[in-house]
Amino acid sequence: MTEGLATVAYIGATVLFILSLGGLSNPETARRGNLLGIVGMTIAVLATVFGPRVTPAGYAWIVGAMAVGAPIGLYAAKTVKMTQMPELVAAMHSLVGLAACLVGFASYVDTSTVFPTPAEKTIHEVEVYIGILIGAVTFSGSVIAFGKLSGRIGGKPLLLPARHWLNLAGLLIVIGFGREFLNAHDMGVGLTALLVMTVIALLFGVHMVMAIGGADMPVVVSMLNSYSGWAAAATGFMLSNDLLIVVGALVGSSGAILSYIMCRAMNRNFISVIAGGFGTGGGTTASAGGEQPAGEVQPISALETAELLREAKGVIIVPGYGMAVAQAQHTVCEITKLLRDKGVAVRFGIHPVAGRMPGHMNVLLAEAKVPYDIVLEMDEINEDFPDTDVAMVIGANDIVNPAAQEDPASPIAGMPVLEVWKARTSVVMKRSMASGYAGIDNPLFYKDNNRMLFGDAKKMLDEVLAALKG
Ligand code: NDP
Repeated sequence: MTEGLATVAYIGATVLFILSLGGLSNPETARRGNLLGIVGMTIAVLATVFGPRVTPAGYAWIVGAMAVGAPIGLYAAKTVKMTQMPELVAAMHSLVGLAACLVGFASYVDTSTVFPTPAEKTIHEVEVYIGILIGAVTFSGSVIAFGKLSGRIGGKPLLLPARHWLNLAGLLIVIGFGREFLNAHDMGVGLTALLVMTVIALLFGVHMVMAIGGADMPVVVSMLNSYSGWAAAATGFMLSNDLLIVVGALVGSSGAILSYIMCRAMNRNFISVIAGGFGTGGGTTASAGGEQPAGEVQPISALETAELLREAKGVIIVPGYGMAVAQAQHTVCEITKLLRDKGVAVRFGIHPVAGRMPGHMNVLLAEAKVPYDIVLEMDEINEDFPDTDVAMVIGANDIVNPAAQEDPASPIAGMPVLEVWKARTSVVMKRSMASGYAGIDNPLFYKDNNRMLFGDAKKMLDEVLAALKG
């Protein structure tokens, strides 16, 4: 393939990626968006593999790498559970970071490239240095995020004494070694500077994510997504690959926008996320087990819940992580259909960080074929709770916690929540009185108009469905 044809293919792939991103912004067009992304990626891979840069000897490496990587990817995609998606995403981000580091080192030790001017050589070295820096932070940060999300590492934030000073010292050392690296006349000196910087960047990534409290992890995942995009863009600069630069910038900026949106949804400050140590302001951290229970709870049976639903005019369902764990979305859909057929207005209220990843609930409900038009965002539905007969909370906890509004000392104070307690009756479906991801007690459970339906969400909803049919 000629250089010109490869460039045309790259431009085509870029357009498809942009259209794909556009499509993914709405559940109704998401499938098409995904398809456009697949086509774009296929074109990009083919144009790269058959492009002018690959020598015949390179094919053996490419085929070998694909023979190892493709089955692993296929296996992971087929076996991963919906609830494990965020961990998988974090693991994928770590690979992008690792690739940026490896490409950086390879392109530094590769002496075959001849730079026409010293300035171009310096620019290339700056690209290598920054590329490895971003790549290393992304890699180690994502590995820790993977550990936290999969429960292998505890969710509590690690707060080292003087940690901001530690970060600052790390930054100054990185800048100092950057100077050394750019002034190095000898590859050995340059490599030493690169290696020292890489170790510091790796430690920084670990430190940054370890210092983040459990409830704030979603923003970190989306921020690491953004970092992985910038790492890919840096790789593109190192390899002079325009497509990688554009795609990396797309991922980097869309990840940054998503982080910003999520920060707003959780009432957090974007700058403090980038600086690390996010979610630990004022020294208040989520403590497992939470505070003392604030009163008595009033249990309800599946039969009584069915009765409440049958008699309601308006119902809002608020799904959370527990619905994903129980895989209850199909039963939820059946109940919705049945109630709607009986004339009950059923709608869904989705919190931006419900579940364990952005869009988690939307994906599950779409999979169960719940109509899109009754699935509403938090801001669209929050005002309607006072006019609602029943708010049914399915395996959600933090996102319906009134302490966010009522208790300024709460670790989630200020986080916008779905105001289910304003409905005439709220029913919370969960297995026990255990706390949610943030590890704090929920005063909703003790409110006079709240009822607790204890049990596995799928099992309880099956019973509710049977009672509704009966
Ligand atoms: P929570 O983790 O706050 O609560 C989920 C509840 O579901 C638990 O209290 C649990 O209670 C219950 N549950 C678990 N399994 C079942 C089951 N099989 N049947 C019934 N109930 C079950 O989840 P939310 O969705 O309310 O809130 C999301 C939280 O996760 C927020 O703190 C958010 O910050 C965080 N987060 C969000 C991410 C995102 O991107 N969306 C990523 C990472 C974290 P019990 O054990 O008693 O059953």
